[in-house]
Formats: sequence, C-alpha cells, structure tokens
Amino acid sequence: MDGEMFRKSGYRLVDWIAGYLEGAEKYPVAARVRPGEIRAQLPEGPPAQGEPMDRILDDFERLIVPGLTHWNHPRFFAYFPANHSGPSILGELLSAGLGVNAMVWQTSPAATELEEQMMDWLRRLIGLGEGWKGAIQDTASSATLCALLCARERLSDHQINQKGFGGLPNSRPLRVYASTQAHSSVEKAARIGGFGTENLVKIREDLSWAMDPADLEQRIISDKENGFKPCCVVATVGTTSSTAMDPLRPIGEIARRHNLWMHVDAALAGSAAILPEMRWILDGSELAHSLVFNPHKWLFTNFDCSAFFCKEPETLVRTFSINPEYLKTDADQRVTNFRDWGIPLGRRFRALKLWFVLRSFGVEGLQQKIRLHLDLAQRFKYWVEESQEFELLAPVPLQTVCFRFNPAKDMLPSLSTAELERLNLALLQAVNRSGKIFLSHTRLADLLCLRLSIGQTATELRHVEEAWQTLRECALGCN
Ligand code: PLP
Repeated sequence: MDGEMFRKSGYRLVDWIAGYLEGAEKYPVAARVRPGEIRAQLPEGPPAQGEPMDRILDDFERLIVPGLTHWNHPRFFAYFPANHSGPSILGELLSAGLGVNAMVWQTSPAATELEEQMMDWLRRLIGLGEGWKGAIQDTASSATLCALLCARERLSDHQINQKGFGGLPNSRPLRVYASTQAHSSVEKAARIGGFGTENLVKIREDLSWAMDPADLEQRIISDKENGFKPCCVVATVGTTSSTAMDPLRPIGEIARRHNLWMHVDAALAGSAAILPEMRWILDGSELAHSLVFNPHKWLFTNFDCSAFFCKEPETLVRTFSINPEYLKTDADQRVTNFRDWGIPLGRRFRALKLWFVLRSFGVEGLQQKIRLHLDLAQRFKYWVEESQEFELLAPVPLQTVCFRFNPAKDMLPSLSTAELERLNLALLQAVNRSGKIFLSHTRLADLLCLRLSIGQTATELRHVEEAWQTLRECALGCN
C-alpha cells in the first residue's frame, strides 16, 4: 500500500469510526448471529493476490459488523465495561502507526519515559503514596500473576526461580488467600505460578460479600499449624459479581503480622478512586505490596491498558529480569527497562493513549463521567427497591446493580428458588434478544442475579431509563 492509498483508506476508516461512535445506538447491542454463521461466510484460505483496501473495508461492513457485540453501545450493561473514547482511539492508532516496541528504554526512550510519567499521574490520581512505582500491563490477569510470582520469589528468597519447586526438597506447600468472590484470574495465577488450585484458600465472605478478615487470620494460623506456608493474600476492591469491597486495612494488618505479600485487585473499582469522595475504597492500600486497576475498564481508555503498581519494584525486577547479551545497553544502570517489570519482552506503546485520554478529558472531565455512572447506578437501585416485582440482591457501592425479577416479592406463598431462577434466565434471554440492552448474570451463593453494570462512555440517564423500561416490558412476557 502506497502513501496515497494509505491516506485514502485511512480517511475512510476514520470517517467510519466517527460515524460508528455517533450512531452506535442504531445497532442491536448484542450480536444476533448463530455459532459458525460469520465464519461460514469467510473464504477457506487467504487470497493469492492482494485485494484493494476498499473491497476489504466493504467486506468488513458486510461480514464482520453483523457479528459484533457493541461493547461501547450506551446500552451495553453486561459484565464490566471495557470502554473507550475518541482520544484513546487516536492514541491507539498513533501507537500502531509508530509500531514502537517499548521493551527497553533504548528501543524508544519516549515510550518508557511517558509510561513512567503516566503511571505517576495515575498513582497521584487514585491517591497512592510516593513509594509506589508502576508499569502498564496488558490485563489485570497478567498483573495478578506477576504479583503472585513476586510473592513466591520473595518468600523463597528467589530460590524457586533458580531451582524450581522440586529443587527445594523440604519446602512446605505455599498458600494463597482470596475471598470466595475473587476473580478467576487469581486461581489462574495460582495454577500458573505453581501454587496449585488446592493451595488457593477461599476466605469466607461477610453479609456484604466482602472478605471476612477474622476468617482470613484463622485460616493462616491453621495452615501454619498444619504444615503449609502462607505466602500471599489477594484482596479485591470491587468484586466481579457484585463490586463488594474487601476491607484493605484489617487484611493488610493480618498480612503484615504473618509476613504475606498483599496484592490488591481493583480492576474495575480503582478508577472510582479518582473521586475524592470515593478514596475510602483504597483505605489501607498503603499496607499492600502491589495493586492493579484497569483504565481499559472504566477510564475511557481502549483495551488493553492495565495499571500495575508495586511498592517493591526491586523484588519485581529480580523476579522477572533475565539479562542476555543481546538486550544489554549502555543506559541500563540509569534508566527503567520495562521488559523486567512483567512477563512479555515486547511491549506496546500504551502510554500514548493514556496520555491522550488524561489530557483530553482532564481530571475534572474524568471525574464527571465516573460520578455520573455512580449516580445512575443509585437511581437504578432505587427503582428496583421501590418496585413491586424486582428486588435488590446486593449492596451497590459502585456502578453495578445485582437484582432479580420476583413477581411475588411481597406475597405469600413466595416463589421457589428454582422458579425464580427459571423466570430470571427467561427474562435475561428476552431482554438480550430484544437488542435494546445487553445484561449478564451471576450467582451470589445460590441466588441467581441479573447484573446491570454501568460504565460506557456515552451512557446517560435516558439509556438507564430505557433499560428499566425494557426489563419491565420483557418481564410481563415472562410471567
Ligand atoms: N479482577 C476483577 C475484579 C475483574 O472483574 C476482572 C475482569 O472483569 C479481572 C480481574 C480480569 O481483568 P482482565 O480482563 O484485565 O484480565
């Protein structure tokens, strides 16, 4: 592709994206295709000769768009958001245009230094102290894996990296602690890090679905007495099912007493800490060793962009640094080489989109959006509470509401758990099939909950009102 054709196709694409952002509401939120339907329309192999870009873009509109679920639709309320914004898309485009690999300082000093500065801006924004240093990771899952590996190496004095588990014949099994509500990435990290699923101890939750610190301490003491070695605790700020808040301070004090690494998974919720009135969610984080939150979830920055902070960067670097001749540079003693701060060697220039977002919105612009989402969730919660037919199933500290349809809410006899589950699954299917909104579900103990999670960049009050109306209309058909 020559420069002229790149320009022409680029303008067409930017126009298409601008139209998409302006007109996202015209699409059904969730894709309405059957499994295999998109693939069946694609040729078996690539073309022998190159094709014109216009034809490829036509096919994108014709074949791919119908198979998309529109994550940035203002009525996308499923899972947790993965939102974006104009400045972020431009930053992503520019990063692709530059094609820089930010693996060490020398491979693009600006990429490393912008990343250092953006992580410092984010640190200040969410109110972490001076001692924290950060790096951008692809996902919270990778960051949590890094944290568990650091915990493992710190406890074994870096012997597991050297000798493997088998090289430490008298070692006791290492244990990781997290609440019953922790994200599946903690278990994945426990598996990959060699702890094993059976050594991930699930700590009981309290009535708000947050970790019960008394149970944590009891389990640690009992593990010590029974030949295990407590190594790491993962506290979740904003659990995936219901955004429950594990209490960081008491968990941190227990971690200190028993010499555990404490990792804070604030994947979604961390963004809320840019609001002074929400800083309480990270109270006690100064006792932690590492913390992750995802600007790609709720800070208007394209996937992927995960902010990983560590209070012991020397442990992190010692855990990950391998120094082959071909990667050594003259500047190594004076600069940060982010290749040593995580798993991959090659790293995208993600700081660029973060810089664009933080400057383009400004702190107040970001705060306004997050405040709006929090307020919208409180309104939805109020409608549910006031309704005769819907009920709230968990506290709403953030932007996600767990609820269910219960037409016999105030009646006797009430519906059985199985009947309620059947009704709510039918309702979920009906609202998602409508194309007007997209919700997902979860389970809190044995309660099936519908989840409405607010956080898309363009979501306003009218979209949440439409969600409530759609739910009530579809509920009539399910009853
Ligand atoms: N932690 C929590 C609390 C989450 O809710 C999620 C995803 O929703 C993750 C971790 C995983 O995030 P990622 O997709 O960035 O790995």
